[in-house]
Amino acid sequence: MIQINEPAREYAALASSIEAAVLASLRSGRWLFGEATEGFARDFARYLDVTHVLPVANGTDALELALRAVGVGAGDEVVTAANAGGYTSIACRVIGATPVYADILMPTMTLDPNDVVARLSDQVKAVVVTHLYGNLGEVDGLRVLLDAAGRADIAIVEDCAQAHGARMGERLAGSLGDIATFSFYPSKNLGALGDGGAVATARDDLAHRIRLLRQYGWEPRYHNVAAYGRNSRIDEVQAAVLRIKLQHLDAMNCARRAILQAYRDALPEGYRLCVAEGEATVGHLAVLLCPNRETAQVHLNRMGVQTDIHYPTLDPDQPAWRDLPMRSGPLSTSRLAVDRILTLPCFPHLTQAEIARVCEALHSLPSASQTDAAAH
Ligand SMILES: *Cc1c(COP(=O)(O)O)cnc(C)c1O
Repeated sequence: MIQINEPAREYAALASSIEAAVLASLRSGRWLFGEATEGFARDFARYLDVTHVLPVANGTDALELALRAVGVGAGDEVVTAANAGGYTSIACRVIGATPVYADILMPTMTLDPNDVVARLSDQVKAVVVTHLYGNLGEVDGLRVLLDAAGRADIAIVEDCAQAHGARMGERLAGSLGDIATFSFYPSKNLGALGDGGAVATARDDLAHRIRLLRQYGWEPRYHNVAAYGRNSRIDEVQAAVLRIKLQHLDAMNCARRAILQAYRDALPEGYRLCVAEGEATVGHLAVLLCPNRETAQVHLNRMGVQTDIHYPTLDPDQPAWRDLPMRSGPLSTSRLAVDRILTLPCFPHLTQAEIARVCEALHSLPSASQTDAAAH
């Protein structure tokens, strides 16, 4: 079976340099806030072309801290998409903020700026744009619409957990909004050997808030000056791994885009990939939009291709959150897509032979008219 993702291959390809870096950080005797964390923060800030990168413990913490930094508190509202895996909703719940769900655009499956504006209220303090599946969302267009609606006060947070390296010309995901969050979970485009995350921003005031919040709210040590401060740190060992892997990120993203292109060329009529054009995607996930998902899933699995669904349930429909405060529009595109999406294998060390086998399986999918006929 060809797997959706196999991060172990990436490790194997870089093992000797990763192991040397890990050993050096173990022997340094400084296992938190040492040279590796500082070095990675500097390297990643230069890569993104932002002034500040603040490493934290994981991507969900990064979202919570970024929302708090832009002033979101209990009872405030945060507009976001309903199809992005629930991470922003989780951050809102921790804060006591209310998520407000707006619809998405095809084919990128990212937030629709017009629907965000239709959801605005006086309580909205921030919008989280998730660059889903590696596709850049419309941050610039959203900023223009918010400003035109007289809401320059609303902050835009980019969730870049699936989009390390996605770009529009010289501008990268993570440098487009007021503040941005990253996860370095092992399967991400830039993945650690455990947990890790970061907040990026060009704004000094927000960087200062994050620096306080991630270390108990202290300034100086033992003086709590930020009310919701807590502990969210990255390990030196993970930062050392990330510093090595960052050097290979662009090449690995390139390999992911080549896989998407091969799949796109193999698809029969009626199927499409949820991708942005050119370098505006980094192919975190290869997600197919199927006329009939059930049929496609069975066919691909029979052909030895593993599939998965990212994500099977919209946030407002999740059992744990159904009775909590939320607002939502009709979400017509989100609801149409949620039953048709199907994730295919996509990772930088997929072999040419495996890519060819997936393409063959895709090429032999029943076309939209065949699945229609079967349904009658
Ligand atoms: C993985 C992911 C997160 C959460 O990151 P963790 O490091 O697992 O907490 C947040 N948002 C998106 C879009 C993700 O894919």
